[in-house]
Amino acid sequence: MPYANPIDKKIYDMGYGEKNKKRLQESRKKYYQRDETKQRRKINYKKYKDKWTKQAIEGYGGECLFCGEDRPEALLFHHVNGNGTEHRGKIGNGYSFFKWIVENNFPDEIILLCGTCHLILHRAEGDDD
Ligand SMILES: [Zn+2]
Repeated sequence: MPYANPIDKKIYDMGYGEKNKKRLQESRKKYYQRDETKQRRKINYKKYKDKWTKQAIEGYGGECLFCGEDRPEALLFHHVNGNGTEHRGKIGNGYSFFKWIVENNFPDEIILLCGTCHLILHRAEGDDD
């Protein structure tokens, strides 16, 4: 295992991690259960998600393809060939979907719609939901 920090290597070589495995696991667990940690992780996640969402929306012109609605809260990404659920299952939910859109250079199979136009489109296609 390569170490950037020689102290980490020394600790590892001394078997510190192995000897104190349980204690380390517990302190790590405690750390992640702290309210400050949870709060900070939540904020960081939101920042990260917002960054990718914004880029993804801007990449598709920043407005609904059909009606021009441009309030970000009203916009969503629609899979033209209707495989949205399967696709999200593959690449994950949350920011990873928006990141995927940006990294794949805004693929044509995705379009940006507002909630109303999205619903109208689905009803026109004969979906009940
Ligand atoms: Zn619309």
